[in-house]
Amino acid sequence: MTAAPAPPDPGLVDSFGRRITYVRLSVTDRCDLRCRYCMAEHMHFLPRAGILAFEEIVALADIFIDRGIRRIRLTGGEPLVRRGIADLIARLGERIGAGLDELTLTTNGTQLARFATDLFEAGVRRVNVSLDSLRPDRFRYITRRGDLDQVLGGIAAASAAGLAVKINMVALKGLNQDEIEPMLDWCVERGHDLTLIETMPLGEVEEDRTCHYLPLDDVRRRLEAVYALTPSLRRTGGPARYWEVGGTDTRLGLITPLTGNFCDGCNRIRVAATGTVYGCLGHDQKVELRDLLRAGGRRAVDEALDRLLAGKPKGHDFRIAAAAPPAVGRHMSVTGG
Ligand code: SAM
Ligand code: SF4
Repeated sequence: MTAAPAPPDPGLVDSFGRRITYVRLSVTDRCDLRCRYCMAEHMHFLPRAGILAFEEIVALADIFIDRGIRRIRLTGGEPLVRRGIADLIARLGERIGAGLDELTLTTNGTQLARFATDLFEAGVRRVNVSLDSLRPDRFRYITRRGDLDQVLGGIAAASAAGLAVKINMVALKGLNQDEIEPMLDWCVERGHDLTLIETMPLGEVEEDRTCHYLPLDDVRRRLEAVYALTPSLRRTGGPARYWEVGGTDTRLGLITPLTGNFCDGCNRIRVAATGTVYGCLGHDQKVELRDLLRAGGRRAVDEALDRLLAGKPKGHDFRIAAAAPPAVGRHMSVTGG
């Protein structure tokens, strides 16, 4: 008797054998800040009708979970400025333990004081907070309008609510380069992890990113002279490489798209607020799910996801060169960074 053929794998596996278990889901392209490396001063935001409704986001999340997604990170734009966001987070939180292992959030922290408890009650246990400077004037300059105290208050509220906080800091030559060690000390004192990020050429902004590009290899060598950094075995399938900071509970992550390619173990796809799903942060390869979701066709959504996976690029091709156009035209706030 011959064995019955194995049922087809319902999971999302790309043509390089990478299994996709992680989705970054942008809930809005809007933001209350205008960080200089991320957005132009005068951004055109999407009309609201073009954005997925909460029902559509939940329906999409359920399809993803069915197809093997285990972690969802909400992002944007600024996710906490979308009206009613606590309801969406509560509804997605109901999936934790029922197919979903983890729901997390990346935020600029301005609204965290208001939402920290809601997040914890929904089952969120970790948040990433972007913080590029601990100096009020510099923070305001980089974000074009941010109030540092408001963000620090948000971070304190998140910790008090029981959320683990990881700080994301974009390392910018000539802007916050001298604050990297103080930021690491600040994180160590509070038990936060810190991830440093190289500026990536995504979308047109007024400034030439080359001027502020800071290779993190140099930064790591500098930090190694001060801290006992041991490479960590931790791999998240994401772009960061981690180091344990000796004698502390803090882990240092480095996201080095320019100096070190991070694509081999990529386990993720990204959903823009419009329902466009991108196979890679650094390419335009995509499928459009909004109309398929609105037509209620599960099969059509599955087929589109299979097409996306079949064409998911092997890796990005970021380069920073003076006067060169961005690697992709869309801003990080559109793709969902
Ligand atoms: N508004 C939220 C925040 O700032 O955390 C979430 C969205 S934001 C696009 C996500 C992350 O992308 C932030 O840590 C931000 O610093 C980073 N980011 C935005 N544009 C970037 C760029 N061009 N290069 C590198 N990182 C960027
Ligand atoms: Fe807004 Fe985040 Fe972009 Fe800053 S990095 S402008 S906070 S979306």
